[in-house]
Amino acid sequence: MRTFISFFALIFFASLSWAQPYSILIKNGHVIDPKNNIDAVMDIAVSNNGKIAQVAKDIDPKQATQVIDAKGLIVTPGLVDIHTHNFVGPNADQAYMNGPGGVLPDGFTFRSGVTTVADAGSSGWRTFPEFKKNVIDRSQTRVLAFLNIVGEGMRGGAYEQRVDDMDPSAAALVARANPGVIVGIKLAHFVGADWTPADRAVAAGTKANIPVMVDFGGSTPPLSIEDLFLKHLRPGDIFTHCFAQLTTRESVVDSAAQKVKPFVLEARKRGIIFDVGYGGISFRFVQAIPAIKSGFFPNSISTDLHTGSMNGAMKDELSVMSKFLVMGMDLVSIITASTWNPAREIKREDLGNLSVGADADIAILTIREGKFGFFDYTGYKIEGNKKFECEMTIRSGKIVYDLNGLANVR
Ligand SMILES: [Zn+2]
Repeated sequence: MRTFISFFALIFFASLSWAQPYSILIKNGHVIDPKNNIDAVMDIAVSNNGKIAQVAKDIDPKQATQVIDAKGLIVTPGLVDIHTHNFVGPNADQAYMNGPGGVLPDGFTFRSGVTTVADAGSSGWRTFPEFKKNVIDRSQTRVLAFLNIVGEGMRGGAYEQRVDDMDPSAAALVARANPGVIVGIKLAHFVGADWTPADRAVAAGTKANIPVMVDFGGSTPPLSIEDLFLKHLRPGDIFTHCFAQLTTRESVVDSAAQKVKPFVLEARKRGIIFDVGYGGISFRFVQAIPAIKSGFFPNSISTDLHTGSMNGAMKDELSVMSKFLVMGMDLVSIITASTWNPAREIKREDLGNLSVGADADIAILTIREGKFGFFDYTGYKIEGNKKFECEMTIRSGKIVYDLNGLANVR
């Protein structure tokens, strides 16, 4: 009797899955998928194995187990934030390396539509295995990493000034052993008028065939960023904190003339990538507003999420994107800078798009209208009438965040 029931149960469930090839169907959303040049109202079907199955108009809702009405909402690839700090750990004196500076990704990502982060150099070749074991392998968020050129990673203080711990061969070896997970090399926080750290980071990047991301630490007087862009970095290398204005580091906008410096435009033509990396003190409106007004948009919008930025002016990826919306960057360019551009920058072209067969990482966003304030750490404030909010996030075909119960919760 028991076998008999199981047999019918099997037939019943098998027929269900035959009848419904899609686990999720998102209907009538405004789909923005820059890679595929889609900016239109479309439906998106997700297969039972968590991949994008179809993007088309009027897909039959009977084909899906779960139908989500996205009318009036924006549907994009899961957002890709390529500057975060996630190597959180118990060691109080180790800053962003297994210390108190980082945050666990899942607590911050899905509620902002982010499905992929790239930790920006919290770990180095000596410490990456622990980061992988404790965070990367235990997160629902897809966590990738830029490997610090310093072997210890962002351990703080004197550790990050040790040029003798910047070993391009060792860094490249660990990067090559973790293809697709280690997606770049990071140089950060170095204080000194010395090009050796930048050149060693580039040497590691060349050996591992991955880009370098530079947080130009600073010196007094500052090293020339013109030389950095035109003589030291390669096309495809990434200048993060691009709208910072600090006394120890040159800025991209001449704030007196309110203009992007000519050599910055030349650097962009050469292929240097400009990434936001908002952070605690790494973004100022006095830099960003003239840049956006002149059409100089960042290639990628990233947060530099850490304990020092999460509750300040930065907040989260959508808050940073909202600032660019209010400054006048157009919606498609903002989505491009949060999906397809960062995916390409880290050579993960499988991400940041809604192509058929891609992992179904999807963000469903709304643009709220009202009166909102946006400030930077200096207190400079602008007001706007729009901001992004995340309605739902889907990671590999699973609903991992649902703000208002858009799914039929049973
Ligand atoms: Zn950072």
